[in-house]
Amino acid sequence: MVRDRQKFSDLLAEVRRFIRTECLPLEEEVDRCDAIPEPLVRRMRETGLFGHSIPEAYGGAGLSTEELSLVNIEVSQAATAFRARFGGNTGIAAESIVVDGTEAQKQQYLPRLASGELTGCFALTEPEAGSDATAQATVAVRENDGYVITGRKCFITNAPIASLFTVFARTDPGKKGADGISAFLVERGAPGLSTSQPCRKMGQHGSPVGEVILERVRVPASAIVGGLEGQGFRTALKTLNKQRINLAALCVGPAIRLVEEMARHAQSRRQFGQHIGDFQLVQQMIAESNTEVHAARALVLETARKRDDGADVTMEASMCKLFASEACGRIADRAVQVFGGRGYIAGNVAERFYRDVRLFRLYEGTSQIHLVNIARRTMASVQAQP
Ligand SMILES: Cc1cc2nc3c(=O)[nH]c(=O)nc-3n(C[C@H](O)[C@H](O)[C@H](O)COP(=O)(O)OP(=O)(O)OC[C@H]3O[C@@H](n4cnc5c(N)ncnc54)[C@H](O)[C@@H]3O)c2cc1C
Repeated sequence: MVRDRQKFSDLLAEVRRFIRTECLPLEEEVDRCDAIPEPLVRRMRETGLFGHSIPEAYGGAGLSTEELSLVNIEVSQAATAFRARFGGNTGIAAESIVVDGTEAQKQQYLPRLASGELTGCFALTEPEAGSDATAQATVAVRENDGYVITGRKCFITNAPIASLFTVFARTDPGKKGADGISAFLVERGAPGLSTSQPCRKMGQHGSPVGEVILERVRVPASAIVGGLEGQGFRTALKTLNKQRINLAALCVGPAIRLVEEMARHAQSRRQFGQHIGDFQLVQQMIAESNTEVHAARALVLETARKRDDGADVTMEASMCKLFASEACGRIADRAVQVFGGRGYIAGNVAERFYRDVRLFRLYEGTSQIHLVNIARRTMASVQAQP
């Protein structure tokens, strides 16, 4: 559902210009220094990148799922760390409030997330609760008129720099699994909340990831997302369901960029007296990669449109995330191959994306978890033989 086509196409053109002219030239510096320069973050705020998915009533652009996918395909054509800087605010960190927040929570946080004044993060994973996110050990104990939260979250994107944390904790220790989990909005500065130093990682340098440590953090009852206990895991699933489409779109951008880079290199590098692009085995790598780009893009946009039309796309969102992230991994691998030895040397675009995109197959549901989900839903949709 694209409401105001001209307005949206202007926004998309502005995003494309910003990414190509202001982010792309800084890719290597960001990878080397493991940080995004603050002046560029200011420009991200001015360009409205922090608020794309937040409703207009709260200061965002109110993009539909399809529109956000098209934007994500643009922003991810530069190094993945750029998008990660504002991605929580226009993805999982703000979405919990958008889908399930009370009116007071929306008023309090969404405008500041949309402007980029606050950086949000989504703190679900724990050392013993990874793929099985329902195994939450963090607890929130009712005390007086609020809760006291104790626990430890790991691998949280933007935790080292975040000012607002969506923290998942068990409010009912008597209930196992998804029931009894609640989501809380906790601000940095709350006594007892601290974050670790950023982890050293394989790729996505410039995107800080770390632990969130909660030692008897006291929050008011009004900090529960939606004001209702026991709804937190449902909130997480609603948020992740949309985010899987977002993430799939974020896999398409690097894949487009890598196909361009492969095709350019194949037409300039000469061996055996001709361009390597004249060799059919090199052409095969380019052709298979570009075909996968088109298939992933079509799947993502069709699923996004279905979601905008109100359909339940839980299974299709899993398919998008699985197919796009795996395709992106294959394309990055072929890109290194097309660049030959150069593709293995630091500073080469294929070498950097190869490291960066490896994460896509791991977070927000590993490929195995999505395979399991798709298989279960496929079998459930077909009647068993008596
Ligand atoms: C850089 C980075 C950023 C991240 N950002 C965030 C964030 O912002 N917020 C957040 O909450 N989390 C975040 N995560 C955590 C991420 O979502 C988890 O790492 C992921 O869900 C996998 O959990 P795990 O690492 O514990 O792996 P495990 O669950 O231990 O899985 C290990 C292996 O076992 C397989 N496996 C597990 N269960 C099954 C099964 N039932 N069937 C088949 N195979 C199975 C997995 O597929 C995987 O191959 C981030 C992680 C990284 C690395």
